[in-house]
Amino acid sequence: MRHILFLFLDGIGLGDDDPLTNPFARANLKTLHSLLDGKKLLRDTPEHDNGRARFIPTDASMGVGGPPQSATGQATILTGLNVPQLIGGHWGPKPNQAVTEILKRENVFMSLAAKGKSAVLINAYPQRYFEAITRGKRMYSAIPMAVDAANIPLMTADDLRAGHAFSADFTGEGWRTELKYEDTPVYSLNEAGKRLAEVSRQRGLTFFEHWITDVVGHRGTIDDGVRVLERFDSVLEGVLENWDDEEGLIVITSDHGNIENFSHTHHTQNKVPTYVIGRRRAGFSDGIRDLTGFTPAILRYLD
Ligand SMILES: [Zn+2]
Repeated sequence: MRHILFLFLDGIGLGDDDPLTNPFARANLKTLHSLLDGKKLLRDTPEHDNGRARFIPTDASMGVGGPPQSATGQATILTGLNVPQLIGGHWGPKPNQAVTEILKRENVFMSLAAKGKSAVLINAYPQRYFEAITRGKRMYSAIPMAVDAANIPLMTADDLRAGHAFSADFTGEGWRTELKYEDTPVYSLNEAGKRLAEVSRQRGLTFFEHWITDVVGHRGTIDDGVRVLERFDSVLEGVLENWDDEEGLIVITSDHGNIENFSHTHHTQNKVPTYVIGRRRAGFSDGIRDLTGFTPAILRYLD
């Protein structure tokens, strides 16, 4: 079965070649760099194809002024519509009424479900998250909102225990240290990557949201930035060790820049890095110039 493993990293952009402000200029990202034949992920890095992966600097501003935001950026990735243009500006972090209406009308998870294709968000959410949603203390962000609108169940602590779902930090350490669960699994970064590849074989679209990169960009230090990027690179190494380029596509992208500039704590207007890995990458990536390109490419590829 054709399948896509979509690894969404919130808040990573292509910035200056400055190791004092940009963790991408400093981090040892051997897997991401090897897919670029040794180049780093920086503003001047051009589109590239190394025979296994295509790299596409991707416009997250989409003709709308001001720094891009998560709700409109993610809604654009999930609908193929230029959501900031439709609602008259970038908006985030959580969807407002206008973004909510767009996401609930049609999104990639709903479209796949209507075609009988399977799709899933493999982030596990703790019990307290569901309780806060039910009590109205917390709103969905764009990605779980889109999944919920398609009547696809969000994954729980039980799914994490059973190995179907993943922790936002990949390894599950955060469920033990932050959330105080005592019985959830903990993996190495490499093992988490291998398991992501394995789990993605069960469905057409397997989506994973790594929101920690944006949190680090807002609140962390550049050393935190280096660490979170190197952790992702190790996960990706594990994914690729368990991945056959004939079997499907791995897609990596973001909604806006942030972590690539520690001279301030807010989002940037930089392009974001997109990787499409796998033998059929050309057909998938040809239409991708900005965030509107993903949903049509996913639907085309899985049809
Ligand atoms: Zn943010």
